[in-house]
Amino acid sequence: MNRLPHGGPGRITGDGAVVARAPAKVNVHLAVAPLGADGYHELRTVFLAVSLFDTVTVRPAGDLSIELTGAFAGGSAGPDRVPTDRRNIVWQAAELLAQRAGVSAEAAITIDKSIPAAAGLAGGSADAAAALVALDTLWGTHATRGDLAELAARLGSDVPFSLLGGVALGSGRGERLSPVLARRRWDWVLGIAGEGLSTPAVYGELDRLRAEGLLPAGEELASPDPVVAALRSGPVEALAGTLSNDLQAPALVLRPQLRRALDAATGAGAAAALVSGSGPTVAALAADEDDAVALAAELAGSGHFRTVRAVHGPVPGARLVG
Ligand code: ATP
Repeated sequence: MNRLPHGGPGRITGDGAVVARAPAKVNVHLAVAPLGADGYHELRTVFLAVSLFDTVTVRPAGDLSIELTGAFAGGSAGPDRVPTDRRNIVWQAAELLAQRAGVSAEAAITIDKSIPAAAGLAGGSADAAAALVALDTLWGTHATRGDLAELAARLGSDVPFSLLGGVALGSGRGERLSPVLARRRWDWVLGIAGEGLSTPAVYGELDRLRAEGLLPAGEELASPDPVVAALRSGPVEALAGTLSNDLQAPALVLRPQLRRALDAATGAGAAAALVSGSGPTVAALAADEDDAVALAAELAGSGHFRTVRAVHGPVPGARLVG
C-alpha cells in the first residue's frame, strides 16, 4: 500500500466526506463441525448478501471517533449494545488499515445502522468492510481488493464476505471464500426480533446439546452442493428444500418463541423459513418480489417481530456510494 497525501483521489465530497455501504448476509447453508482443539468451529457455509445495508461515512478529523445513527444504533445493554470506542469493530478496522498503510488513524466516522446488532446478519462485519473501503479512499492508502480482504480476515470471520458480497461458499471459520455465480434474484423477508442473541452463546449451546447427545455430533459436515445448485437456477421449491442451519436448533433452545416465529412465516406463505446464522432473525423465502411484499405485510402484523424487511439477493459487497 502506498501512502498518498491526505485526501488522495477518490469520491470525496465538498466537506471531505467519503461514504460506503455494505450488505447484511443470510447463511442459506451453515454446517458446523465439533469444537476444535483451537477453540473454534470449522464451518461449511453458503453466504448470500441481501439488500439491507449499513452506511459508513468518514470525514477528515484530528483523532478517531465513532457516532451511531439509524434505526438500529443499538440498545443500552446485552448483545445488542453497539460500542463507540475501540471495542467497535470499525475502530479496529481503522487502526489496522492505518497501521498497515503507515498513516495516522484519524477520522470522524458515522455508522448508520439499518442492520440490527447481534441478529445473525453480520452487521458488525458489514460496518468493518464498509469502513475499510471508505477509509482507504479518505486516507489515499490505495489498498488493492486483495489487501483489504486480508485485513478483513484479521478483523473477523464474516468480514471478507461483507467485502465480497454476492454468493460465496465459505470454509475455515467462514473467511475462506469461493465466489458462486447465481444468475437469478432471490426474494426474502427478514423477521427481526426485539432482542439480539449472542453468537458465542449460540455456539456454546450447540456444543452442550451435542455433548449431551441431544444433537448429532456434527463430525460429517453436510455438503453445500445441493443448495449451491438450487441457488444458481432455482426453482424456489428446490432452494426451499435445501436450506439448513446447524445453529438453528441451539438458537431455538435459547429463544423458544423463535419456533412460533418460524411457523408464522411458513403459515403466511413463505416457501421456507430458517434462522439466519446465529439468529434470532428469521429469513423467510418468498417466490418473487410481489410475494415478499405480501409476506412482509402479513408478518409485520403477526406480533412475532420488532420489524420486518423485504429484501433480495445477491447484491454486491462493500462499495463506495455517490
Ligand atoms: P454474525 O452473524 O457475524 O455472527 P451478528 O450479526 O449476530 O454476527 P453483529 O451485529 O455483527 O452480530 O455484532 C455482534 C457483537 O459485536 C455485538 O454484540 C456488539 O456488541 C459488537 N460490535 C462491535 N462493533 C459492532 C458494530 N459496528 N455493529 C454491531 N455490533 C458491533
